[in-house]
Amino acid sequence: MPELDLLIAGGGPAGVMAGLLFARAGCKTLVLEKHADFFRDFRGDTVHPSTLELLRELGLLGAFLKRPHDEIRKLTARVADREIPLADLSHLPVETKFVALMPQWDFLDFLAEEAGHYPTFTLRMEAEVVDLIVEDDHVAGARLKDGEEVRARLTIAADGRSSILREKAGLPKTDLGAPIDVLWFRLPKEKTATNITGGTFGAGTLVVEIDRGDYWQCAYVVPKGAADEIHAAGLDSFRSDVARAAPELGPVVGTLTDWDQVKLLSVSLDRLTRWWRPGLLAIGDAAHAMSPVGGVGINLAIQDAVAAANILAGPLASGRNLDSLLPLVQHRREFPTKVIQAAQKAVHDRVLTPLVVRKAVLTKVPWPLRLFALFPVLRRIPARMVGLGIRREHIRSPDAGLRR
Ligand SMILES: Cc1cc2nc3c(=O)[nH]c(=O)nc-3n(C[C@H](O)[C@H](O)[C@H](O)COP(=O)(O)OP(=O)(O)OC[C@H]3O[C@@H](n4cnc5c(N)ncnc54)[C@H](O)[C@@H]3O)c2cc1C
Repeated sequence: MPELDLLIAGGGPAGVMAGLLFARAGCKTLVLEKHADFFRDFRGDTVHPSTLELLRELGLLGAFLKRPHDEIRKLTARVADREIPLADLSHLPVETKFVALMPQWDFLDFLAEEAGHYPTFTLRMEAEVVDLIVEDDHVAGARLKDGEEVRARLTIAADGRSSILREKAGLPKTDLGAPIDVLWFRLPKEKTATNITGGTFGAGTLVVEIDRGDYWQCAYVVPKGAADEIHAAGLDSFRSDVARAAPELGPVVGTLTDWDQVKLLSVSLDRLTRWWRPGLLAIGDAAHAMSPVGGVGINLAIQDAVAAANILAGPLASGRNLDSLLPLVQHRREFPTKVIQAAQKAVHDRVLTPLVVRKAVLTKVPWPLRLFALFPVLRRIPARMVGLGIRREHIRSPDAGLRR
């Protein structure tokens, strides 16, 4: 029998949350993360109400909210010079009626620190997994870049949308395609009394401006593969494009003085049709790469981790064979994944492709958006989809009482 119960490849939101929950249930757990720290390009800093609720159920919400963060309670679209309220989170049936904005590395540091209170939890940084160990058609662990072999009774692939483990495991995948990429950059702003996160729809352009207090985190949406052309046209041309797309950014766009300040984030939308094989389970983006539309990927990754722990942690801690239980995790999480990906694909096809790829010019507010302006009650629908998601998970995995 291997010494480890669980090996998790990937220290993103899915991997670290799963690590915390399985270790809490008494499973000897090792998380391997290839980077030296959690500091990486902006990949979403949003902690949604459903995740905040999970932290509350774990008794961690107070400590989490003491860390510096911003709060989004409303989302707005700016179209044809009009402000259209899109989502209002104030009616959500949970205690925390806002999306907390916290740099992802702070969120991961927080989860890893909490997990570190369990003697059953270990996190190793700069540990890149490159292959699986397979014995008698059963995954028995993973091989690291330096050749080290780590064996465990269960391996979780939480290594993100370019997952090496899902590829090595030969898990079948459906690719839904993505017509866009995103250029990310920060621009300075004056601090305002309320958070004014929103999107500006222009002539063939969309810029999402996430209010981070004294700066905007901007997402400039471009057609897939267009970044090279934009780069070749030069920084001056890019600055003018941004100022045209979102005139409110015009006065500050000059602070972009080097391409190093602009990061390309490539968007994909896909999902595995089988999330497991004996000894291995994929969760988070490794099971289903999410588009940034709606900003729900972190949330979904966390929900997967909770469902996996709810179904598997007790049996794993008590030494049971898990093979018949692995499909239950996919069964539980596939439906919300499909619904959210279908919504993201609809936005790709019906909004982003016409606007950003075919360069449509919006001269007036489209009628569905006008309905949001006219009937405030409608704003509760996107608020619920984004804030709580579908088939919300609750902490049901056991607490073995090991916290020190
Ligand atoms: C442009 C863009 C913007 C986004 N914005 C948002 C947003 O605002 N809000 C939101 O909720 N979601 C957003 N998302 C989606 C979100 O980032 C992902 O859905 C979410 O991070 C998935 O979490 P994860 O833990 O499954 O994977 P990841 O966050 O990708 O974590 C995987 C981890 O595994 C590590 N790793 C990879 N390979 C290996 C290996 N071989 N060995 C060891 N470690 C490895 C990586 O370093 C990483 O730490 C965005 C996505 C994109 C592309």
